[in-house]
Amino acid sequence: MSKETGWNFDNSYAHLPKVFFSSINPTPVKSPELVILNNPLAESLGLNPEALKSEDGTAAFSGNEILEGAEPLAQAYAGHQFGHFTMLGDGRAVLLGEQITPQGERFDIQLKGSGRTPYSRGGDGRAALGPMLREYIISEAMYALGIPTTRSLAVVTTGEPVFRETKLEGAILTRVAASHLRVGTFEYVVRWGGVENLQILADYAINRHYPEIKDDESRYLSFLQEVIKRQAALIAKWQLVGFIHGVMNTDNVAISGETIDYGPCAFMDTYDPETVFSSIDHQGRYAYENQPLIGGWNLARFAETLLPLLHDDKEEAVKLAQEKVSGFNEIFQSHWLAGMRMKLGLFKEKEKDEELIKDLLSLMKKHRADYTNTFMALTRDQLDDTADLFKSAGFIQWKQRWKERLEHQEESKADSYELMRKSNPALIPRNHRVEEALEAAVEEGDLSVTARLLEVLSNPYEYSPEKDEYTGVPETNVPYQTFCGT
Ligand code: AMP
Ligand code: MG
Ligand code: MG
Repeated sequence: MSKETGWNFDNSYAHLPKVFFSSINPTPVKSPELVILNNPLAESLGLNPEALKSEDGTAAFSGNEILEGAEPLAQAYAGHQFGHFTMLGDGRAVLLGEQITPQGERFDIQLKGSGRTPYSRGGDGRAALGPMLREYIISEAMYALGIPTTRSLAVVTTGEPVFRETKLEGAILTRVAASHLRVGTFEYVVRWGGVENLQILADYAINRHYPEIKDDESRYLSFLQEVIKRQAALIAKWQLVGFIHGVMNTDNVAISGETIDYGPCAFMDTYDPETVFSSIDHQGRYAYENQPLIGGWNLARFAETLLPLLHDDKEEAVKLAQEKVSGFNEIFQSHWLAGMRMKLGLFKEKEKDEELIKDLLSLMKKHRADYTNTFMALTRDQLDDTADLFKSAGFIQWKQRWKERLEHQEESKADSYELMRKSNPALIPRNHRVEEALEAAVEEGDLSVTARLLEVLSNPYEYSPEKDEYTGVPETNVPYQTFCGT
């Protein structure tokens, strides 16, 4: 362990069979500079932020120096991209190793944008400053919202340009994750590693993420069940805050249940279930309303990889897997409904709650209400707002039903308010605010806008009037568009 910085690597993934990865160092860069460092995250990992800010710290974040104890590698994986099976792998990322925290937790430390690897195909292995800062901002906002996610420790610029449609400033993100095991890792291994390696991978994933099931009689079936449960809970959380992942390919579905791969993701302003931000998602496959359905589809692909471990008899294995996968929707629904009840201040379950919730959502859709601000207005009882929704006859009737439902519960009005306050974020990474922060950082080298935004987003449930500039909705008719792979 390095005393000064606190890096303390173990390399359990590097000790798996060779079929799982390619050993490779990051490609050195010309003149790295630290752009941003996540002090609280560094501390929670047992690292010393002051030491990380030094030249040596920056050298490590750029890949110019290999940290003591690191065994860098690119992970092999495959994936269904927009429904089509493809060979992938870390084409522009390197796993340095696993940081073991003073509490004994294990986190992957990955450099993203660190140069070409054997999986780069035609790509340059690099990343640009804007998208890496964007991942930093949104992943940290997700963390503060209480949504399982990979996190961002640092961004450095490389001093080298990257060429996309235009010339951009190169950058590297240090990503922290419970692991980078994906559904796509299993898809890769089952095709190219054989059953023996599949079992090694499944055991590794169970030990790392689901140790409580490791002595189960049908451990691989339990494993499938637990991954389904975590994904259902995760996607329910996305739906509840209006997060659109944008590229739910199976290589972007983490076995740990964390949100991973912040490419074309964005938060929805106006409530419209058909919202799609990604410039390449022409069919709307990954639209807001499709996320639960796609989640189930991705888990079916995962279940298929596990078949050889589920039962010696193929038909029996398929039956077992189908039973589990078909349970996904019900688990998702129960999380979603529970979360929606909380957003409306409802404590116990009543039969007509779902109808009440769905009626509100269809009114929100009809009147093009802002998703986040509608729930905030309900929480703070500020319905004298000029929003079309609140003036509509439909809403006035709905509000009457909601008030009656609230009055018929044992819990006090204050309890309901507190539940709503904790369940309805006031502050989400609004697209126009994120763009503004990135523009200042990229065009002017001014990180103060990003720093202030991150500060506000770190307490998303703490509304106060001076934060109103972050809760406003953009005045534009131009649809927001996001891009992958920049
Ligand atoms: P994503 O759409 O971010 O999930 O990435 C899909 C695949 O493309 C992954 O295998 C990435 O490593 C790879 N990739 C994305 N950008 C680049 C790049 N600039 N150079 C090489 N590989 C890349
Ligand atoms: Mg990806
Ligand atoms: Mg990506």
